[in-house]
Amino acid sequence: GPNGRVLIVANRLPVTAKRHPVKKWEYPSSSGGLVSALQGIKDVQMMWVGWPGVSVPNETDQTVITEELFKRRCVPVFLDEELMDQYYSGYCNKILWPLFHYLGLPQEYKINKAKGIKSQFEAYTQANQMFAETVCKIYKEGDIIWCHDYHLMCLPKLLKQYNINMKVGWFLHTPFPSSEMYRALPNRAELLEAVLKADLVGFHAYDYARHFVSACISLLGLEGDLDGIQFDRRIVKVDAFPIGIDAQRFTKALEGPKVKEKITEFKKLFAGRKVILGVDRLDMIKGFLQKLLAFEKFLEKNEELDSGYKVVLLQIAVPTRSDVPEYRKLASQVHELVARVNGRFGTLKATPILHLDQTVDFDSLCALYAITDVALITSLRDGMNLVSYEYVACQESNKGVLILSEFAGAAQSLGAGSIIVNPWDIAEVADAIKRALDMPTEDREKHHRHNYELVSRHTAQDWAENYVCDLYNATSKAPLRA
Ligand code: UDP
Repeated sequence: GPNGRVLIVANRLPVTAKRHPVKKWEYPSSSGGLVSALQGIKDVQMMWVGWPGVSVPNETDQTVITEELFKRRCVPVFLDEELMDQYYSGYCNKILWPLFHYLGLPQEYKINKAKGIKSQFEAYTQANQMFAETVCKIYKEGDIIWCHDYHLMCLPKLLKQYNINMKVGWFLHTPFPSSEMYRALPNRAELLEAVLKADLVGFHAYDYARHFVSACISLLGLEGDLDGIQFDRRIVKVDAFPIGIDAQRFTKALEGPKVKEKITEFKKLFAGRKVILGVDRLDMIKGFLQKLLAFEKFLEKNEELDSGYKVVLLQIAVPTRSDVPEYRKLASQVHELVARVNGRFGTLKATPILHLDQTVDFDSLCALYAITDVALITSLRDGMNLVSYEYVACQESNKGVLILSEFAGAAQSLGAGSIIVNPWDIAEVADAIKRALDMPTEDREKHHRHNYELVSRHTAQDWAENYVCDLYNATSKAPLRA
């Protein structure tokens, strides 16, 4: 393996710098999927480079924060508010995110805001430049650099400009769309060419890798296939590395007294009712409206069973990007639909949808994963979807049923152990809910066994180790045939 360090470059650091009234600054850590995945790589020294979660105009503060974060193996990139607005809220979240999830480009940019997208792209390249400069400051020979996600597509190119011998990998956590979608992007060629400077380009699913290769062939006129792409007198490796989770973190939590207490509490709360669980950020890609329409259709078809009482859809809608008008509009559409279904199928005894615009703490989340009968995931597009994995990890005793959208990356791995649905087909999803609730124990066990084997064996650590190992072995100057 590598004898240098692995430098993880991602938009957001796993530690946040936060203003504090007395201590001035505090440094809470966040534990996303990526963080726990990377914690487990053995015998490798790791450093993180990224935005510390706050704009820090004062240089003295910047120095203090840099020193404190360094103790936590993090190096901050200080992006000011204006740049974050243009680069992150703008180009990343309003252009790349929707395009990569097949929602297209925002209408107003297509028609009269051509300048808007241009200045946002300038901010994007500028932000990438600042990430690159920070990486270069700490780079030592032998380090390998792992760039993450759609925020940092220019980074491989910028790093190689600095030092052609740097080993650089880039990994995308969202889908990479069909080239017919991707080609709408004004900066399509520049971004592809920048990514292709990497030694290894990774995705969560083969389809995404295939789409990327097609885009390089059709938009750049390059030669290549899933073994690699010929670019700039090298062969760039492209591959799928589906991420996993740290399943033990969940199974261990289920053994703890706090989660056990919650399990007892929730079981009492939902006694006599079947619970269908949804856990999603309130994002367009998660198919909230489709899920609600399907649940409504299910209630409609099964009215004689008193389903409005016997079945409850418990939806945790994690707040996200709520400063963006499109997200606020989605929230109100969701609320309207929830109210309609509850008004129509609720009784004095109960309401069929329990919708929460909130995050839940880790213990409650584990308890909910453990006691619910069905998990319903209707993503219209989703890079992987870790909620499906986490649900499976917590279902060893209950053996609940997973209904999973075919458009989530997780459908590639959990397909055989789930009911796979097209979330746009409302009737199909409604029937899937019925099938899931009626599924005989034997079938449920068989389904769960398949999924559980996969989720517990294919860990996040394996994923990270595989990627780093392949990156280490990727020869940056593979000879080209004449
Ligand atoms: N999650 C969370 N807070 C909550 C509910 C869920 O942090 O209140 C976590 C959940 O455990 C999962 C992640 O958020 O690890 C969601 O990941 P996923 O891949 O499903 O979707 P994403 O939000 O990345 O699109």
